[in-house]
Amino acid sequence: MGLQGLYDEIKNCQNCSLGRSRTNLVFGSGNEEAKIVFVGEAPGYYEDRQGEPFVGAAGKLLTELLGKIGLKREDVYIANVLKCRPPENRNPTPEEIEACKPYLLKQIEIIKPKVVCTLGNFATQTILNKKVPISKVKARPAQVKGFLVFPLYHPAAALHQGWMRGPLEEDFCKLKEFLDSGIEPRPEVEEPEQLDLF
Ligand code: URA
Repeated sequence: MGLQGLYDEIKNCQNCSLGRSRTNLVFGSGNEEAKIVFVGEAPGYYEDRQGEPFVGAAGKLLTELLGKIGLKREDVYIANVLKCRPPENRNPTPEEIEACKPYLLKQIEIIKPKVVCTLGNFATQTILNKKVPISKVKARPAQVKGFLVFPLYHPAAALHQGWMRGPLEEDFCKLKEFLDSGIEPRPEVEEPEQLDLF
């Protein structure tokens, strides 16, 4: 199955209550053959309206940060942990994450990227399957299943807390170094493994 097939399968999802309040399910966008996937938290107001991930202010910053390391949005794939907007942009609940996580994992399985960049606490903890604060693991690559994970602060957090902007830009430079190093994921690893390259 490709991404279109998966989208067709889940577009009317009602597995949690967000199915009733959404305007659009925000599946993801970008290159189906991308080597890098970015994972955010959940759609916000504009994403819900347009059905596209990262189209608001945080998206503008993400596009800018990608540009600084020579990447365009069409070069990567962008998705979220939750496919539907939580009312008033509240945090995702554990139940919503559990209901939606299989869709994200399926997207990753279809795309088969080398690197998954998790943006913020929710994406990082969901992908690492571990309750670790982003401040502790940011820019520290790990391997999970068949791909490498590179956690980053969420761009929206950097918009709200100005001091994070510098560290986020520095971590994007570390991401470029990591990508340029040509490191390849090893075949399936069950437990997350810290690589400690930095
Ligand atoms: N924040 C996210 O986590 N995802 C989006 O799509 C937009 C903002």
